[in-house]
Amino acid sequence: MFEVEGLTDLQEEIVSTVRKFVDNEVIPVADDLEHDDVFPDELVDGMREMGIFGLTVPEEFGGLGEGILTYVLVVMELARGWMSLAGIINTNFIDIYLLNQYGTDEQKQRYLPRIAAGEIRGAFSMSEPGVGSDVANIKAKAILDGDSYKIDGEKMWVTNGLRADFVTVLTRTNLDAETPYKGMSVLIVDKEPGVTELPGLTVSANIPKMGYKGVETTAINFDGFECPAANLLGGEEGKGFYQMMDGIEVGRVNVAGRAVGLGTRAFEEAVEYAQVREAFGVPIANHQSVSNMIADMATQLTAAKTMVVNAARKKDAGGRVDLDAGMAKLFASEACHKIVTESLRIHGGYGYSKEYTIERLYRDAPFLLIGEGTSEIQRNIISRAVLKQYKVET
Ligand SMILES: Cc1cc2nc3c(=O)[nH]c(=O)nc-3n(C[C@H](O)[C@H](O)[C@H](O)COP(=O)(O)OP(=O)(O)OC[C@H]3O[C@@H](n4cnc5c(N)ncnc54)[C@H](O)[C@@H]3O)c2cc1C
Repeated sequence: MFEVEGLTDLQEEIVSTVRKFVDNEVIPVADDLEHDDVFPDELVDGMREMGIFGLTVPEEFGGLGEGILTYVLVVMELARGWMSLAGIINTNFIDIYLLNQYGTDEQKQRYLPRIAAGEIRGAFSMSEPGVGSDVANIKAKAILDGDSYKIDGEKMWVTNGLRADFVTVLTRTNLDAETPYKGMSVLIVDKEPGVTELPGLTVSANIPKMGYKGVETTAINFDGFECPAANLLGGEEGKGFYQMMDGIEVGRVNVAGRAVGLGTRAFEEAVEYAQVREAFGVPIANHQSVSNMIADMATQLTAAKTMVVNAARKKDAGGRVDLDAGMAKLFASEACHKIVTESLRIHGGYGYSKEYTIERLYRDAPFLLIGEGTSEIQRNIISRAVLKQYKVET
């Protein structure tokens, strides 16, 4: 069930390799690593060896040159094992996309080959303590002074903020711009992985979270940090808001893919449990209330996966796909949330115990309703696009 039609031989091979990796290497250790909130060094090495880090880097820079569809299929497999693995690579893939789409030749040459080799990994930072959904209202500023920008401000919720080698940071470079959108630029901030203090830059301690453990989430404070002007993404000021909104569509497809992977695991756990647990002399799967939940889960997963694959294929075709990525993210994350809840119900009291994987999945799923734009923001994006398309002239 849930297999995607029309994949190339290479895509089939990649999916099958990652699936085996997840079954053999990830699933046996994920619950323990998650409970202990441990960064999965060995699993990350495994992903590097499989070439996952360079999946979407163009071949000329040493990558596999695959598109967003292949990437999201990999994300689904990884998240079936442990959602945090998909988080460890997500910001890096948004950065690959940004560099590839908007980077200068020199920037591509400087970052992409090392990303493809798995030598460096990127984080992605728009959010601030006072601003998440309302991106246009960010306060961090970067003012050009000679050959470098001086960055001041605080960034929040930076996934991979400690271990990343570089961070793409949305800043305001022109405080007098006609609109805030036109005054924003993305700077590529080089940092030392694992180091919390650099001149003008402080990375906070890991923020303790309900789930999504193993991967660190930090704040980053800039206080006169000097960033070379050569690190202005694309070399032209005022393009940052558009660049980030384009890049975050990759993130939205990732989060939707994670929801499918996580939901698939919750479904698999429920289907197995329902056939071995007996109540009133029969497996609980024989009780119609339980089998109805299984039917709903399977239906929602099929629909979610179809929407995610559709959005990824459209993103690969080029241009903005805010409607499709928004719909896929909204539907898949809400479906996943419902599926983990129903799987937990099917597990009865055992679902509430840390001995069963569903407890972890239940804590991981709510993040998908928030990250890369909340469900409410996705609805705003979708309704705006729909009302534009169906505009009534009055
Ligand atoms: C674990 C984790 C990791 C993250 N990683 C990153 C990262 O790597 N990089 C990064 O930049 N950010 C990251 N984020 C931030 C994330 O993108 C934001 O949390 C998210 O966009 C929501 O912003 P907010 O938390 O400020 O909520 P707010 O914007 O304050 O929203 C609060 C509530 O109000 C609702 N709301 C706000 N505006 C509207 C509106 N116009 N219409 C309807 N409802 C509205 C929201 O839907 C939500 O329910 C991460 C967050 C978490 C929790």
